[in-house]
Amino acid sequence: MTNTPKRHCVNHFATKNIQIAGFLVLLTAAIATAGFIQSQDRTFKYPIHDMARPQPTIVTPGPVCASSAPSDAIVLFDGKDLSAWTKAGSDAPAGWSVKDGLFTVVAGSGNIATRQSFGDCQFHIEWMVPTELKCKSQQGSNSGLYFHSRYELQILNSAGNVTYADGMAGSLYGQYPPMVNPCRPQGEWNTYDVVYRGPRFDASAGIVRTATVTLFFNGILVQDDVEILGATAHGAHATYSSHPETGPIMLQDHGDPLKFRNIWIRPLGNPQVAE
Ligand code: MG
Repeated sequence: MTNTPKRHCVNHFATKNIQIAGFLVLLTAAIATAGFIQSQDRTFKYPIHDMARPQPTIVTPGPVCASSAPSDAIVLFDGKDLSAWTKAGSDAPAGWSVKDGLFTVVAGSGNIATRQSFGDCQFHIEWMVPTELKCKSQQGSNSGLYFHSRYELQILNSAGNVTYADGMAGSLYGQYPPMVNPCRPQGEWNTYDVVYRGPRFDASAGIVRTATVTLFFNGILVQDDVEILGATAHGAHATYSSHPETGPIMLQDHGDPLKFRNIWIRPLGNPQVAE
């Protein structure tokens, strides 16, 4: 009788110790797992914007070919007006200038975005850096094409203008340099043909499918179905935050008067599966 409380006390103490030990084991495992995932997701060979990252090989593209919109495309700019676009984040008209069948960034007027929202798509755009612009690294010729207004394919003069490889034309900014560099010189038109697949999130905002992008730059493959690591960030690792399946496509006002023309899009259904 006299031992019972003591035994009970010892057993209780032992049980508590086991619980604490178990908790510590689980905690250690969780930390180790988190560290593993962290390193799996975020260990890269080169730091972001590393000038030592090798520059892609220069490739001379073929002649400029006309790329008229196919019959099932939604034309986002046909040379006449920017009615398909707004000042990004508002219903205000896009403040960029339209003239002679093309439009030009008006520095300081803000980014512009498609009035309509898009998700998975095939996208075509043509851009040109005027000859009079002075380009130095990221300055003087910078714009960008953002899917979901978040994920940037860089637009920049990369013909004779060296910058960090993950920030040059054809890069997924801060993430993937282009596989090669087919950028045409200032005063000539460049084309981007993109296949973009947006991310998917579950009801609790967890990511269930990362976004992917394929880019043909002047007809040459420079991004091959790469997995987007998250929303574009400058000098920081990209992360995802939940957003709807469709959203506006945005063009960047980085203060440089780049020119654009011939923009069209074909929204895509889900990827095909064998039947
Ligand atoms: Mg940019």
